[in-house]
Amino acid sequence: MSNQYRIIVLGEGGVGKSAVTIQFLQNHFITKYEPTLEETFRKQMEIDSEQCILEIIDTAGQEDYYSMRERYIKTGEGFLLVYSIISKTTFDKVNPLFESIQRVKESDKPSDTELVIPAVLIGNKSDLSDQRAVTKSEGEELAKSFGIPFFETSAKTSTNIKECFTTVVREMKKIRKPSK
Ligand code: GDP
Ligand code: MG
Repeated sequence: MSNQYRIIVLGEGGVGKSAVTIQFLQNHFITKYEPTLEETFRKQMEIDSEQCILEIIDTAGQEDYYSMRERYIKTGEGFLLVYSIISKTTFDKVNPLFESIQRVKESDKPSDTELVIPAVLIGNKSDLSDQRAVTKSEGEELAKSFGIPFFETSAKTSTNIKECFTTVVREMKKIRKPSK
């Protein structure tokens, strides 16, 4: 459907994928960590005077299994790539993740079109800046190398949470437009 937007939330376990998603949908901060919980949510909201239906898939640990991750990527249109600013290893996992998205989407698209992936890079847990392990400019540089927007967020304080979701929808709208 033309006003439906399917967003996949990807990233290492513990970076805050569920907390970011729940803060966006339900305006509260979850502290309980349930690493294997995978859920699909729907939310209707107006973005740039269009009523949009967002389908959000909060992925879980299983995406480590190659085929599982591949399936998410195939069915997804927009992506939130999440790492934690207090964990360098989660930041280092973003690049291979983006490469797998590129690989899957490249093989699915017509060969005469340019590959554009609607995605946003998210450095979460910005409220824990005293434990920061990844600088803001490292995040900015990585997002720039992918050609996608970047935000530092906090699911705890709700900083930039809404912005991430509206931005990824805008990125999706951009690639839909030309074919209409
Ligand atoms: P997921 O595995 O990526 O879904 O991670 P969760 O959303 O379950 O979060 C893992 C843990 O980090 C939980 O205890 C959360 O409360 C905590 N957490 C998530 N986001 C933030 C944040 O922005 N700030 C702080 N301080 N903690 C967070
Ligand atoms: Mg989770």
